[in-house]
Amino acid sequence: TLKGRRAIVTGSNSGIGLGIARELAKAGAEVVLNSFTDSAEDHALAEDLSAETGSAVRYIKADLSKCEEARALVEAAGGCDILVNNAGIQHVAKVEEFPTAKWDAIIAINLSSAFHTTAMALPVMKERGWGRVINVSSAHGLTASPFKSAYIAAKHGLVGLTKTVALEVAGQGITANAICPGYVLTPLVEAQIPDQMKAHGMDRETVIREVMLDRQPSKEFATVEEIGGTAVFLCSDAARQITGTTLSVDGGWTAL
Ligand code: NAD
Repeated sequence: TLKGRRAIVTGSNSGIGLGIARELAKAGAEVVLNSFTDSAEDHALAEDLSAETGSAVRYIKADLSKCEEARALVEAAGGCDILVNNAGIQHVAKVEEFPTAKWDAIIAINLSSAFHTTAMALPVMKERGWGRVINVSSAHGLTASPFKSAYIAAKHGLVGLTKTVALEVAGQGITANAICPGYVLTPLVEAQIPDQMKAHGMDRETVIREVMLDRQPSKEFATVEEIGGTAVFLCSDAARQITGTTLSVDGGWTAL
C-alpha cells in the first residue's frame, strides 16, 4: 500500500497521466493532479477521483513549459514521495521544416520540466529516506521514427536524465526509472482512428492493425491502466533494486 505517500503526476488531467494518478490513488497514495489549465473541470476531476478511490486528490495548475512553474508545482504540493514526470506534447515535421518554437516547447515540456521537478523533489525524498522518480518516456526514447526529431530527442534525453538521477541517489532509498510505452489507447489516440480510417480507406480493425500498430507486434494498444499498474509496481518493495533503467510496455516494439 502507498498510504502516507504523496504523489505528483504532471500532465494528468487526461490520458496516461490520469491513468497513473488513478492507479496510485487506488493503491492509497495522496495524489496531486496537474496541467497548464485551471478550469472548474480540472478541480472536479480531482474531487471525482478522490471520491472514487478514497484517497486525497488535489489539482494544482502549472505550465511546465516554464521552469519557475515546474519548480513551484513541487513547492505547492508541500512534499513529494512519488514524482511522475508525464507531461508531454508532440509535433511532426521534417527537421529542416521543424518550427524552432515547437522544438523549444517540446524540449521544455517533455524534458526540462522533469529536470526542474526532480531537482525540487529530491531533497524532500532524501530527508525521508524514500522516493520514486518515474519518468514517462516512450518507445521513442529508445528507437526513432522520421519527422519526430524534438519528441525523440526529448524522450531519449529523459532516459539519460533518469539514469543520472538513479546514480546520484543510489543507496538512499530512492529509485529513478523510465516507463517506455508503445502506442497507448488514450482519448488523443482514439480521436485519430476515424481520420486514419478515412485517409487509408480501411475499417477500424484494419487501420489499427496495419497502420497505427504497424510497429507493435502484439497488434494491441497498451492501456492507461497497464501504464498505471507499471508505475504502482515501481513504487512497491519488490522494485527496490530496480533503478536507472527503462521498462518497456510496448507489445514487443523495441524487440523488433
Ligand atoms: P495527453 O495529451 O492525453 O496527455 C498529455 C498531458 O500533458 C495532458 O494532461 C496535458 O494537459 C499535459 N500538458 C501538455 N502541455 C503541458 C504543459 N505545458 N504544462 C503542463 N501540462 C501539460 O497524451 P498522453 O498520450 O496521455 O501522453 C502522456 C505522456 O505519455 C506524454 O509524455 C507522451 O509523450 C507519453 N506517451 C504517450 C504514448 C501514447 O501512445 N499515447 C506513447 C508513449 C509515450
